[in-house]
Amino acid sequence: MRQSQLFTKTRKEAPKDEVAKNAQLLIRAGYIYKEMAGVYAYMPLGLRVMNNIIRVIREEMDAIGGQEIFLTALQDKKVWEKTGRWSESVLDIWFKSELKNGSQVGLGITHEEPVTNLMRDYIHSYRDLPRYAYQFQTKFRNEERAKSGIMRSREFIMKDLYSFSKDQKEHDVFYEKAKQAYVKIFQRLGLGERTYVTFASGGSFSKYSHEFQTVTDAGEDLVYVHEGKKIAVNKEVLTDEVLKDLGVKREDLVEKKAVEVGNIFSLGTKFSDAYELCFVSEDGTKKPVIMGSYGIGPGRVMGTIVETLSDANGIVWPEEVAPFRLHLVSLGKPGSDAEKAAVDLYSELSKLGVEVLFDDRDLRPGEKFADSDLIGIPLRAVISDKTLAMGGALELKERKTGAVSMVTKEELKNRLMR
Ligand code: ATP
Ligand code: MG
Repeated sequence: MRQSQLFTKTRKEAPKDEVAKNAQLLIRAGYIYKEMAGVYAYMPLGLRVMNNIIRVIREEMDAIGGQEIFLTALQDKKVWEKTGRWSESVLDIWFKSELKNGSQVGLGITHEEPVTNLMRDYIHSYRDLPRYAYQFQTKFRNEERAKSGIMRSREFIMKDLYSFSKDQKEHDVFYEKAKQAYVKIFQRLGLGERTYVTFASGGSFSKYSHEFQTVTDAGEDLVYVHEGKKIAVNKEVLTDEVLKDLGVKREDLVEKKAVEVGNIFSLGTKFSDAYELCFVSEDGTKKPVIMGSYGIGPGRVMGTIVETLSDANGIVWPEEVAPFRLHLVSLGKPGSDAEKAAVDLYSELSKLGVEVLFDDRDLRPGEKFADSDLIGIPLRAVISDKTLAMGGALELKERKTGAVSMVTKEELKNRLMR
């Protein structure tokens, strides 16, 4: 993409009312647009990042047998009344509305209810199990505090997977697989080092649920981290009994602020009982389906990456997440050899399928470099009359380390084709 054609512009200042670093940087760099408090639109660069995060999650969900679906954001009150969660006294974050005929609808905050209800049409016998369905769906939550930018918004995409199993053993095997898939996802998304599998309360059907907590001062949660075991304990389950269970000592745990980027939860028969989601087992008896739910917020992940990996000059995207592989910056004046060389390289790389943001704007070098650092693409290549004079070379800079080297066109191509 030619930067001269990109309709978003970088800006020096973020909106005055924006207190979160992630939103400040993402707005300044042109990734997102603030529609209102807690509601953000994704611009071309932001959508590319979002789609990359979604791609990684989708690959890992498909790898453990997930089947992608797309449920509805608009929800039927009648379906939700069966678990009691329609009631404001149970869930006070609904956005509700009504149809012309007066019947009530809500904008989905989560999808356990509708997915359990609809699975009754498809699950009848043990042959229909296990099944794993997931989606990327917009959720609406009337969050009270929305001061964390895209880490806590009132409208956000969630990946939610629901598992349907014959018995506890089959459920447990999948639950462990999902946990490992999550570990892999956060590694690929560049958050592996500071993300901890965190023991949290399991509700009435299992001892624990697991949260994936990324340590950052921007987080709203407190966790107790055990560095040696690379696990953490959520504040609500920090008891002597749990410490004994996990084989850790209280004095080895360090309190840290963190954000929950994902969670996995055993639901037992809570929802299948409410909707009578049953199957006929091999011995001919009728049994309730054992369920689990598994969430990740791609927008919250994007915000967390910005919070934890940016520096004083701007954003630093991990490779799999970055909106482009390369930021090609031409310093050539219109009509110069340097400009021509940059255009040639841009079209060669594009033909090879390498995604390049090409800064072809007629601006001062300092402005271009500042924008490049702010936007945060992992590799920056500069072509100028000076670099050309050094034997058709380019100046390559790694955003993360700041390391600079001179490379030839062929060396750059080899590196990007890896
Ligand atoms: P929190 O306690 O932080 O509000 P939650 O327990 O409500 O989170 P879930 O309902 O389990 O979260 O949602 C699953 C995932 O969706 C979370 O792990 C998080 O990544 C994401 N998520 C939840 N609420 C938001 C939000 N308001 N904005 C962006 N992402 C969110
Ligand atoms: Mg919440």
